[in-house]
Amino acid sequence: MKKVIVIGGGISGLTASICLSLKGFEVHLYEKNAFVGGLANGFYINGQYVDTCLHWLMGTLKGTKINDIHRLTHAITDEVEIIKLPSLGTFSLNGIDVTFYRDLEKAEKEWIKISPEDEEQIKQFFEYTKDLSTLVLATENDGLIKNIEVKPALKRLTKQRKDLAIIFKESREVYARRFKNEAIRNAIINFQNGYNSMAFAFIEYGLFSKGDTDLPKGGVIPLINRMKERFISLGGVLHLSTEVNRIVTEKKKAIGILANNELIKADIVLSCCDPLFTIENLLENKYKYPLYQKLKNNIDKNPISSCYSLFVSVKKGLSYLDVPTGLNIGELNINGKIINTVFMRPYHYDDSFKKEGETLISFLFNQDQNDFDYWKNLHDLSSEEYKREKEYINEFIITKMCETYNINYDDVTYLTSFGPLELNKLTNSSYGAIQSFSFLNGIMRIAKGKIEGLKNFYMASQWSRSIGGTPTATIYAKKISDLIAKENKK
Ligand SMILES: Cc1cc2nc3c(=O)[nH]c(=O)nc-3n(C[C@H](O)[C@H](O)[C@H](O)COP(=O)(O)OP(=O)(O)OC[C@H]3O[C@@H](n4cnc5c(N)ncnc54)[C@H](O)[C@@H]3O)c2cc1C
Repeated sequence: MKKVIVIGGGISGLTASICLSLKGFEVHLYEKNAFVGGLANGFYINGQYVDTCLHWLMGTLKGTKINDIHRLTHAITDEVEIIKLPSLGTFSLNGIDVTFYRDLEKAEKEWIKISPEDEEQIKQFFEYTKDLSTLVLATENDGLIKNIEVKPALKRLTKQRKDLAIIFKESREVYARRFKNEAIRNAIINFQNGYNSMAFAFIEYGLFSKGDTDLPKGGVIPLINRMKERFISLGGVLHLSTEVNRIVTEKKKAIGILANNELIKADIVLSCCDPLFTIENLLENKYKYPLYQKLKNNIDKNPISSCYSLFVSVKKGLSYLDVPTGLNIGELNINGKIINTVFMRPYHYDDSFKKEGETLISFLFNQDQNDFDYWKNLHDLSSEEYKREKEYINEFIITKMCETYNINYDDVTYLTSFGPLELNKLTNSSYGAIQSFSFLNGIMRIAKGKIEGLKNFYMASQWSRSIGGTPTATIYAKKISDLIAKENKK
């Protein structure tokens, strides 16, 4: 039985470890933290469950190909209830609510009522949403992984509709300029987090409307625990609190890892943590990976998406609010960058998040590589200043929420907050990214998962393709596991 060492117990590492175990490999999974999950995580504070990751999970619809993988790994099982919210959120401006209803016809009608002068653009918006919702299943008769490759389908669609080619290159900000109505422009700019092109916004909304992007009840921790149990039940060996210091190579072959000053040998090494960290630290810059290195050198053209998150508990039922709601906060100035809207998520839809008489609320706004540098420099300069800046941000947002929803300030309990620096420390994700390099300039970047000139070594993670997130992590972990099995027949 060939032995595989998998580095990193996030969604990618867990998915790959399960798939490889199912293919008959002896799998050892090494995770630096005392728990698996990586960026997909959650914990308890004052008896309140706080889910620090899952806002939407792609692949919740039975019969879709990502769902097949979720079922293979037990991320989703028949016993797991899938929560279907009525909309992808509501974003308001000057008293006008713009809602992304699951029912696209209802949304289209309501938007046209809001802005009859934008009728043509609105109709086109919903047409694109419907078109791009078909993407993921567009290559239905190909093999498992080809089924969920979106690239061929994108090509077909761009041929059919010339305009779509432009939309792949347009950010939400640029696309929104097509609309005359300010509230609709504001909603389009803010309804999705991250710095991706409009194409991804259409895909997300389209898949949501189809029921393929929803929420597993209980959030991310039960999901991660199901995957962990699945791995262990297949005979997999989990090494928690074990940081890998180096990938050991000999004659251009990976022969194992160095952890706790010990050489641990294996036939194959698979890194499921950040590829830049892998190349620069674990492989000590001895090998080149031109794609990632090029993206890093041109990062301003391919920004990564990280976030700042704040969690509070409120002694008030807010069940009337859509999830998420765009909270207008005026002008929050962080190092010269102005934040106007934050995602506000009241977790009233899932009992697992409920504490008697209270509503858990999270706030989230986008951050990028420049914000990471700002936070890092500030922390290096003074941890006190860093703490004060976070307190200022938290206070600002909490005050705006209280003003907007008539909440007594004393009824709000602060739970936790974190930004790109904390995410980087938790998982070694470059710049604290929660999505990989964007594809704002229209090119989907797909990494091969192998390094030229280094045998017995593979990589898979949310960085394997532009956009990132759990869908990419899931798809590529499966894809690379298939490749490992094919190239290393026992
Ligand atoms: C606030 C927030 C909200 C999010 N919302 C969503 C959402 O709604 N939907 C969605 O799809 N995605 C969301 N994401 C993104 C999603 O969580 C990630 O894309 C995904 O979990 C990445 O998985 P991964 O396994 O590729 O990487 P990671 O989770 O980064 O896993 C890498 C693992 O490797 C470990 N590691 C690193 N270095 C070493 C080492 N030297 N030795 C041993 N172990 C090591 C890390 O500790 C980590 O566990 C969100 C993330 C955050 C933080």
